[in-house]
Amino acid sequence: MWFEGRLVESGYPVRLEVTDRVIGRIESLHTAQDVWIAPGLLDIQVNGYMGHDVNARDVTPRDIIDLVHALWQRGVTALCPTVITQSEVHICHALQAIATACKADPLVAHAISCIHVEGPYISPEDGPRGAHPLAHVRPPDLAEYARWQEAAEGRIGIITLSPEYPAVSEYIRSVTADGVIVAIGHTGAKEDDIRAAVDAGARLSTHLGNGSHAQIQRHPNYIWEQLAEDRLMASFICDGHHLPPAVMKAMLRAKGVERSLLVSDAVAVAGLEPGIYQTVVGGQVELLPGGRLNLYNTPYLAGSTSSLPECIANVVRYAGLTLADAVRMASVNPVQLLGLDTLQRRGSVRSGAAADLTFFHIDQFSGELIIEATIVHGELVYQRKAEQDT
Ligand SMILES: [Zn+2]
Repeated sequence: MWFEGRLVESGYPVRLEVTDRVIGRIESLHTAQDVWIAPGLLDIQVNGYMGHDVNARDVTPRDIIDLVHALWQRGVTALCPTVITQSEVHICHALQAIATACKADPLVAHAISCIHVEGPYISPEDGPRGAHPLAHVRPPDLAEYARWQEAAEGRIGIITLSPEYPAVSEYIRSVTADGVIVAIGHTGAKEDDIRAAVDAGARLSTHLGNGSHAQIQRHPNYIWEQLAEDRLMASFICDGHHLPPAVMKAMLRAKGVERSLLVSDAVAVAGLEPGIYQTVVGGQVELLPGGRLNLYNTPYLAGSTSSLPECIANVVRYAGLTLADAVRMASVNPVQLLGLDTLQRRGSVRSGAAADLTFFHIDQFSGELIIEATIVHGELVYQRKAEQDT
């Protein structure tokens, strides 16, 4: 298969061959159509999309497979399905469903880079806890971690926790030694606790600037501490609702493109029509035109309904970043965080690299990314039809 377009990193027009699951020859052209070629987008935080809910009490492997397929249509080649705070039985059920989906379909297994468990070892306080159910918030437990990995067949790769619990450093050291990335999130921790967590191996801040108190001491506080900590990468929800444009811009500049990741943190109603929905975790929610999701009859956010292409467009629009930098934060950086650049040669568009690619053009009026094609592990899993032209 040959594809034409411009490399997002350099702008060079090329013709590119996909063969045997890798990128074959790349030939330069004098000109090319306005299609950008990017390393496959990787979303490390997805709770659901198009009605498929990772955290539904009765989630099935079919739901997980359908979720992956739905995201391919949005140019997201790979993801970390995200299991949030619930009882251990509920968490293990979701983990098993994901593991079974991976065994059922090798391409889905390739697309599920690892599982992200967000909670239940988070702050019990209103604000930092976000929409996670208080009844199931608890301190870190290594025995439970072992049972999770058994249910997940070893596929857990990220755990988001709050380092405000005693003995949390021992927990972080143990799971880090097991190859898991520990992320700090939904936290009310003091600055010393954050530093200790990083010393113990924590490497990421989960959706920095969200999952926090509505009002905090101006400084010092846990946001500045994480923003300034160069050993932490940080993920950001740039859906246009979770962070005001000025905050998005300032935080991305402070953390730097090389340490920042874009995540959708999408919930199951993402991608659906505006309306009122009943959700497992958030209760009754209202999806407004424009994509804002509120707890019904309140001004409070109940989750994100974006996907990575919207976040990329927002970062270009609101934070003054180049398209190349915005795409990097949604492709190369998450790939590098998970070590998939060396393990699977993902995250670059060059001869011999893995053929996980996203092709898109930018709508000249809206600035939105229109996905043209998605290639996962060398297979064309989505191609926009001509009649979808707008
Ligand atoms: Zn969260």
